[in-house]
Amino acid sequence: MDTPFSKLGLCDALAYGVQEKGYTQPTAIQAQSIPLILAGRDVIGSAQTGTGKTAAFALPIIQKLGGHGKLRCLVLEPTRELALQVEEAFQTYAKFTDLQITIIYGGVGYGKQLEDLKRGMDIIAATPGRLLDHLEQRNCSLADIDILVLDEVDRMLDMGFLPDVKRIVQHTPKSRQTLFFTATIPPEIAELAGWALNNPEKVEIGRQRAPAETVSHGFYQVVASQKFDLFELLLKQTDFKSVIVFTRTRMGADRIAQRLKRSGHTAAVMHSDRSQRERVEALQGFKSGEFEMLIATDIAARGLDIAGVSHVVNYDVPENAEDYVHRVGRTGRAQSTGDAFTLVTEDDVRNARSIERYMGVGVERKKIEGFEYIYSALFDENAQPAAPKKTSRLHRGVRR
Ligand code: AMP
Repeated sequence: MDTPFSKLGLCDALAYGVQEKGYTQPTAIQAQSIPLILAGRDVIGSAQTGTGKTAAFALPIIQKLGGHGKLRCLVLEPTRELALQVEEAFQTYAKFTDLQITIIYGGVGYGKQLEDLKRGMDIIAATPGRLLDHLEQRNCSLADIDILVLDEVDRMLDMGFLPDVKRIVQHTPKSRQTLFFTATIPPEIAELAGWALNNPEKVEIGRQRAPAETVSHGFYQVVASQKFDLFELLLKQTDFKSVIVFTRTRMGADRIAQRLKRSGHTAAVMHSDRSQRERVEALQGFKSGEFEMLIATDIAARGLDIAGVSHVVNYDVPENAEDYVHRVGRTGRAQSTGDAFTLVTEDDVRNARSIERYMGVGVERKKIEGFEYIYSALFDENAQPAAPKKTSRLHRGVRR
């Protein structure tokens, strides 16, 4: 077979499989990583979300493992949602093989996981805590791991998982091949990479700090008391298919979902106070179109692959500029286009500017025609607001 994927060294069954999924060309990270992984190299990769990273490691791993045998591949993920997504991708790409793949994560019973481990798996996608439980109870062994994938390592660091990750790595053989993915490399991660990787090849795709070029961004300045009204009008004027709305707090997410439901929208909520079952239901309902909106805290921002998200709304500006990139990365994935709306109040000006500095580009300040804006000093700052001014309160209530 002669396809762009087989030219990277993938066998016919996998090349057919990806063609069947409608992938005609490998993405940049796939083109660079697949030959390296097939050649047995350790890889340290940084790529924007939505770049096809999962297939970049899953396809060559499936080829290397070939058929059913011992537990030879472990993929560690920071969240259950990401672990689920990776497991699903492996299941899809490995459809034509007899490889056994499962997922190990917390917040659910042990029954099915124990059954799977007893039956014998080839590939496991796992979150660190539950996997350590199983290792301590000797339910599984990592002694035959050939390929270890540490994914979204910077997120693992944020969540305090690095000590667990190190303990897990120590259960695997030194001779393993290690694939390491992280968007940023602060000192703790550089140290972990130095320890876990053997002469790695670096794969860096695009500018790390900017979201996909297919996303158009807008900052909508508004006083806090008018936020929801502006948001509703924005929705009304927008031809959206599916929207993810990000809030800073769990309570905020619940509150907005309720207000949206009252005005006739279908909305699901996803944050860490929700049970695992509720989170899975919310995500599945959103993916299937049962809910037109998903209201989420940053738990959903990283790496989640949801096809066809037409719009991302930052109801609250994220405090961390990097989270902005991850949030808006939920739309415009894999060459499709998307819009990202961000509501900016007086209190958010500083964070909004730090997002622009982080991305290295300015974001257009947009206004909605026909909205009765309450005046704020925000609006005097035009396209490039300076440091936050304290005058806005004086002007509140004065309509323009
Ligand atoms: P990921 O970055 O792994 O989360 O992948 C983002 C999305 O891109 C997923 O929906 C994949 O199914 C899709 N995708 C992966 N590889 C390709 C490709 N070569 N062509 C088109 N879409 C792809």
